[in-house]
Amino acid sequence: MATRGPRLVILGKQGAGKGTQCVRLSRHYLIPHISSGDMFRVELKSGSEAGERLNKFMRAGELIPDDVVIEVMAHRLGQDGTRDKGFILDGFPRTTTQAEALFDHLDTAELDMAIDLQVPTDVVLHRLASRRVCQDCGQNYGLGKIPKHDGICDRCGGEVIQREDDTTEAISRRLNLYEQQTEPLIAWYLTRDKLVTVDGLNEPDVITKRLVRAIDRRLEWGQVRE
Ligand code: ADP
Ligand code: ZN
Repeated sequence: MATRGPRLVILGKQGAGKGTQCVRLSRHYLIPHISSGDMFRVELKSGSEAGERLNKFMRAGELIPDDVVIEVMAHRLGQDGTRDKGFILDGFPRTTTQAEALFDHLDTAELDMAIDLQVPTDVVLHRLASRRVCQDCGQNYGLGKIPKHDGICDRCGGEVIQREDDTTEAISRRLNLYEQQTEPLIAWYLTRDKLVTVDGLNEPDVITKRLVRAIDRRLEWGQVRE
């Protein structure tokens, strides 16, 4: 009997701390952290033609068209035994169309849970305004955590910058889109018995413990033993 890692989706507003927590969960469970935003930022940085096309959506804080996103993510999920090993999906699915497409590839039973990491809007606004990120390794900095040397990543020495879509205008557009397009997904997972809610308001270490507890509890139900 082989055991595999959990297959997870994580939902939460911009600034809820998804990225930070996903990196930790990916190390804890030894599963890949698949972030659609990170994948698109890599494409953009490569200067490819496809990247150029994504640029205008991302800078403005708008969603990339569903068909483009679905193609990229379906391809990623098909790589190196991802489905068998387990994974954590961050930033995808973001619309009901994307969620339906995911379940064209994946049997509903294959997804263990969708976690809604809840943080109030006034808190995320405050966090996003001060968010800085390493251009090379993606490490986040912000209110409680600033690099030891100004503008230089503690972890890899890369340049720490403000994301182009962390302007006040783009932030409010992304939060509105989250409410309109992504929040309906919460009900979608609920009716499929996949939804687990976790309070995202506390120190990062506390949140990680909460998440691991919620995931392990679900795994103990025997759902991920094969
Ligand atoms: P945030 O959650 O802070 O908006 P992400 O890093 O998840 O940041 O995504 C950055 C941008 O990449 C989004 O604003 C959007 O333009 C694009 N993007 C990422 N994932 C998706 C998706 N699933 N569907 C459409 N656009 C996406
Ligand atoms: Zn770095």
